[in-house]
Amino acid sequence: MKKPKLRELKEAVIALVAGPYTIDFPKSPPPIPVEFRGKPEYQEEECIGCGACSEVCPANAIEITEEQKDDKIYRILTVHLDNCVYCGTCVEKCTTKKGIIQNQEFDLAVFDRADAVEKVEKEMVKCEICGRPFATKDHLKWIYHRLGSSVAGNWTLMLVGLGELELVAQTPERDKRRIGRNDNARILCPDCRRNVILSEEWGTFE
Ligand code: SF4
Ligand code: SF4
Repeated sequence: MKKPKLRELKEAVIALVAGPYTIDFPKSPPPIPVEFRGKPEYQEEECIGCGACSEVCPANAIEITEEQKDDKIYRILTVHLDNCVYCGTCVEKCTTKKGIIQNQEFDLAVFDRADAVEKVEKEMVKCEICGRPFATKDHLKWIYHRLGSSVAGNWTLMLVGLGELELVAQTPERDKRRIGRNDNARILCPDCRRNVILSEEWGTFE
């Protein structure tokens, strides 16, 4: 019985000199390992709003919605931090590899769950025939820059990409009407692009 008592006494003396093993949190921040996977955070400049992070999220924690503000439509990506399991899949599979990071924040408690969100908003491009918003402007520009000279085969990418240089403006949305060859040089959603190509091949298309 004496030996354990002596060992406890030794530990107590060491603790008196070395100080407590526990940390002072929340009085002072704890040491955080570099690899720590904290709060997912969108990087506004790097995210193109493609939505791939939402597709791969195993916890279904990333919601995609659309919102109209004045005459523009925005795609809004929302990470619900109360559903997130902090696995890092969104970071790993991000299309640009830089659109979302996991910072070192871990103290994410809130009183209202609606406040446990991380968001990014991206302006969408509308089809000039049907008016449907079909992709974000930043996503199309990103593809434009990656395709190099091959981009010449796609008018939608050309017009959005050149629009960045302010050489062209998006023509106003039009009523549905007979489409024809001249519609090739417009910003079109995949469905209307297909109809334009079919009309050129097989005759007019309503
Ligand atoms: S760029 Fe990355 S972070 Fe942004 S929407 Fe696409 S996958 Fe998500
Ligand atoms: S860290 Fe994992 S669970 Fe959280 S948003 Fe990203 S993919 Fe989803």
